[in-house]
Amino acid sequence: PLVLGIETSCDETGVGIVRGHTLLADAVASSVEEHARFGGVVPEVASRAHLEAMVPTLERACETAGITLSDVDAVAVTSGPGLAGALLVGVAAAKALALGLEKPLYGVNHLAAHVAVDQLEHGALPDPCLAMLVSGGHSSLLRVDDVTSSVTPLGATIDDAAGEAFDKVARLLGLPFPGGPHIDRAARSGSSVAIDFPRGLSSRRDLERHRFDFSFSGLKTAVARWVQAREAAGEPVPVADVAASFQEAVCDVLTRKAVDAAVSAGIEDILVGGGVAANSRLRVLTEERAARHGIRVRVPRPGLCTDNGAMVAALGSEMVARGRTPSSLDLPADSSLPVTEVLAG
Ligand code: ATP
Ligand code: MG
Ligand code: FE
Repeated sequence: PLVLGIETSCDETGVGIVRGHTLLADAVASSVEEHARFGGVVPEVASRAHLEAMVPTLERACETAGITLSDVDAVAVTSGPGLAGALLVGVAAAKALALGLEKPLYGVNHLAAHVAVDQLEHGALPDPCLAMLVSGGHSSLLRVDDVTSSVTPLGATIDDAAGEAFDKVARLLGLPFPGGPHIDRAARSGSSVAIDFPRGLSSRRDLERHRFDFSFSGLKTAVARWVQAREAAGEPVPVADVAASFQEAVCDVLTRKAVDAAVSAGIEDILVGGGVAANSRLRVLTEERAARHGIRVRVPRPGLCTDNGAMVAALGSEMVARGRTPSSLDLPADSSLPVTEVLAG
């Protein structure tokens, strides 16, 4: 079946088209430039941009896939979590399509879609797998027994998300928004052991209560203090070294805990998803540490890690394949949809 997926949870308007695990089109329009000068996504600006981009992006996806809308067998859409006003645009568009085409509608969870997208690159997901979901708004370790129906959180950040930490530290270093890719690039010419930044929730005492949880706000504060001390002393800030050392602190904790979670649950596959999964150091370090325990790692290519419509279509396609009951046309946009709710009403 041909499945069309719509994504509008944040600042990317995405329309993806898949057939089974085959990606036919992945059209993305981003309003990121419009938010850059504010240093973060402005919800009202994002909603308006989605409204303007929806139809052109839909047309571009159909053109790339070489299909017409009447070929579509099912429509999937991100129903949450995300920015309420932004989600509404996608949900309204998806309902209109499903109603007009008389095809089933699947309101899916954005976070589960970040996991499901890997099927487009590496085929069917291994069941179970341990998903390290690291994005702009979330950072969790999930046990995924079935990406259409059974996602169990094992741990999560207790404060900032990993992507948020990248963005905040980039800002401290005077790098553009969103900062993740810029830190990644700057870090390549720096030393990851130049500065010993803290590893959150890694002390023996913290591990007792927060074995699979993360904390990145203390790290961000430590970087801020370090940079301010340099500036106060009138010394130049070694941006590459700070970027590399900060990135190492984030990747160290993420990979250590993900591998620990997989080993302790007897899971042999780790899947990394979400925007931060595009990070080059995270990809290498996860591989390296997992390999020591005979654990396989799957990470989608960077372009599929950040928000897009293909990931929504991929999860929708799996809903169809597994015979899940479609959502009703009353499907709400739910800004705080929990990750355990993979398919929304
Ligand atoms: P969520 O999925 O939690 O709703 P989101 O959709 O806004 O949040 P994504 O698009 O999944 O987030 O990811 C965006 C985040 O990924 C940003 O914080 C960005 O800085 C980060 N990111 C993108 N590329 C990289 C990279 N190479 N290294 C580190 N971080 C990166
Ligand atoms: Mg974005
Ligand atoms: Fe996302």
